[in-house]
Formats: sequence, structure tokens, C-alpha cells
Amino acid sequence: MTAPALNTSHSEAIFGAAQTLMPGGVSSPVRAFKSVGGQPIVFDRVKGPYAWDVDGNKYIDYIGSWGPAICGHAHPEVIAALQEAVEKGTSFGAPCALENTLAEMVIDAVPSVEMVRFVNSGTEACMAVLRLMRAYTGRDKVIKFEGCYHGHADMFLVKAGSGVATLGLPDSPGVPRSTTANTLTAPYNDLEAVKALFAENPDAISGVILEPIVGNAGFIQPEPGFLEGLRELTKENGALLVFDEVMTGFRISYGGAQAHFGVTPDLTTMGKVIGGGLPVGAYGGRADIMGMVAPAGPMYQAGTLSGNPLAMTAGIKTLELLKQPGTYDKLTATTQKLVAGIKEAAQAAGVPITTASVSAMFGFFLCEGPVRNFEEAKATDSERFGRLHRAMLERGVYLAPSAFEAGFTSLAHSDADIEATINAFRESFAAVA
Ligand SMILES: *Cc1c(COP(=O)(O)O)cnc(C)c1O
Repeated sequence: MTAPALNTSHSEAIFGAAQTLMPGGVSSPVRAFKSVGGQPIVFDRVKGPYAWDVDGNKYIDYIGSWGPAICGHAHPEVIAALQEAVEKGTSFGAPCALENTLAEMVIDAVPSVEMVRFVNSGTEACMAVLRLMRAYTGRDKVIKFEGCYHGHADMFLVKAGSGVATLGLPDSPGVPRSTTANTLTAPYNDLEAVKALFAENPDAISGVILEPIVGNAGFIQPEPGFLEGLRELTKENGALLVFDEVMTGFRISYGGAQAHFGVTPDLTTMGKVIGGGLPVGAYGGRADIMGMVAPAGPMYQAGTLSGNPLAMTAGIKTLELLKQPGTYDKLTATTQKLVAGIKEAAQAAGVPITTASVSAMFGFFLCEGPVRNFEEAKATDSERFGRLHRAMLERGVYLAPSAFEAGFTSLAHSDADIEATINAFRESFAAVA
């Protein structure tokens, strides 16, 4: 079945102008649709599971602003709380009680977190946690995994996921070799490689940072024993284990991936969901390590807008909604129904596929699978993914414009939305088979 042609003339005009004003016409690279072809859609507004573009087209959205919209876009309770908060001012640059409230909620929820520092983005959280790893251990090197994304700080732009992977970029120019000399990389799910790096660099590695479930190289799960193995290896070598839960925090479970898997890191970074759609990041962990952070300790890190009342309010309200009983069961049921439908639709069209999901996060690769690391993810059919992406867009479903991003469901996605999405997948897989 062919879809009605999508009228996107206003999107095209706005994006055309944007390209003369901002590099690539966007404020963040993946939004430009480079890897899937075609023009990006310019949004006008979002509500619940839907987005409307400037031409009036409506989409069922599986990006959710790249993670924050887990309760659905513009949730009425979040909006009402923000409207009340904004009357008292947008930023204090002084302590505010709302910081205590959100800090207590995060500390109660996330097993590794005994103290927390709020920042303004996931990038900032990862940058700060790296400085803290070095400050605490007195060591300069760090181990990261190929395809994991920890924001755009210099030290992490080595074999990075997300937009770097999507655009097929080599490690970014402008990053000094002297900086990345301290970044060691291993394939995801490869404990032996990590063991070898510790053996080759005795007493030099501050710690290991990873996405406990990868969402920035497509959706890749840790194999049984991988996280536990990293916990042991870091301990044995006097190094820290850091979970980057910017994507998985409050999405995989209320306590993040660490609660889901029962493996407790020393430090954790967060972002996305804890900001409820406003710019927030956070890092936290063991109290003795967090005690290094200024002004309690000597490791400097600061922020003009950090902990501002609007961001704290959106985060608090979002976590309150997520804390209701049954939330994660509902998210899991929604996602499982979607993923089963995607798989069946691909198989009906004879398109090879491997799918997976945990809670409100899912992914699929257009290959037989399994996909355990970035090398295997890169080997999947990205040309066909581009055509599939376009076919879905024409049928009113907005997927991440990259084969190297996870998908997100929300509490607002209804059974009817999921069924409509599966129907669109049936037609789209048939169209790209
Ligand atoms: C999104 C993301 C980041 C970066 O967060 P920003 O808010 O975009 O700076 C870091 N780590 C992971 C795992 C992410 O998914």
C-alpha cells in the first residue's frame, strides 16, 4: 500500500533558512536526518505520544525528545507545576528547597547514589564525573566502550556512539591527541579486553564508564555476567565503576539499570528523564567520593543555572508520576507489544530483523543478529533502514532518524497507538522488502 504523499513544504522552507543560520541547520547533529536521507521535519508542538509538524502533519513519536518524555510530552501535571513555579522566577543562583526534594528522590531511588550534584546536561554530568574519577583515584586513564556515547567532552570522543556513529565520523578534529591518549577503548560485552587493558596499564586507570544498556549504538544489552565482571575487575584494580545512566536512569526501572540488574557502580550520571523535558543532568554516588566535589572538597565544578527551580520542578513532577505503582509494568507491556509487532511485520515481509526491549526502551537491527557490540551493529543494513524510516514517516510514525539510536515508549502511548504503529510497520516493511 502506498502512503499518501506527505506535504512538508513549511518544514522545508524553515529548514532551508536554518541551514544559512546554524551549522547544518540544527542545534544537535542527528536531528538533520543525514543518515536516513530526506529533509528533517520541523515540529510545531508535542502532546502525549504525538508530535505535530509545521505543516499540520501528526506523528506518533518514539523519540520523546530523546528520552525525557517518558510520561508523554507536555504532561498536564508537569505543565501545571511549571506554570506555578515560573511565577516565582526562573533562576535563583542561590540554594532552593526544590534541589533538596529532587536530590532526596534520586538518592532514595538509585542504589549507588548517596549524594548528588545537579548540572545542566548529560554531557556536563559525564565531563564532571570523569574529573571526579581522576581526582579520587589520582589516575588519568579511563576505559570506555566502542559505540557508547557519554556526551561530547574531548575525552569521550573516541569511538563514540550517537551522532558520531550516525554520521560515520572519525574521532573529532579539535580534540588534542594528548587528551585522548588517556582514553582506552574496548568492545562492549568483552570482559577479556578490559582485563587486558588493566594488565597493560597497572595503577594508571581511574575507572570504567559505560552505558549499562547501550542506547547510542542502537539498542544493545549487556550479556549475563558482563556488568558483574566489570564490578569485580574495577574493585580488584582499585578503579571506579561508573554507569552512565543519562538514558537508562528512571527509564529501565525507577532505580535505573543498576536496580534492574542488581549491580551497583561507584558513581552514576543521569540526565534526560530527571529533567522532565528541561535541561538537567546529575552525577552522584558514594558519599566518600562525592565529598571530593567543591566546596566540600577540592575538585572544582560549578554552573550558573544548575539546580534552577524550573528544571527541579519538572524533574520532581516527572519522578512523582513515575513512582506510581504499576508504571514500569505498563511501560514494559506497551514496549513488548510494539516490539513483537515490529518483529512479526518484518518477518511477514521477509526482512531479516533482530529486536529487543527492556521497560520503556527498545531497538531493532535489520539483520539476523544477535548484535552484541558496535562492530556487529555497524554491519546491519543502514540503507534499508533509511528507506524504512521514510516509509514510517509517511505513515505518521516518527522514529529516531538513525539505525544507531534506541527507541523510547511512554506512559502516553495507548494500545491504539501501538496498533496503528504496527500497521504502519507492516506496510513499510512490505515497501522496503
Ligand atoms: C544523551 C546522552 C548523553 C549526553 O547528554 P546531553 O544531555 O545530550 O548532553 C550522555 N550519555 C548518554 C548515555 C546519553 O544517552
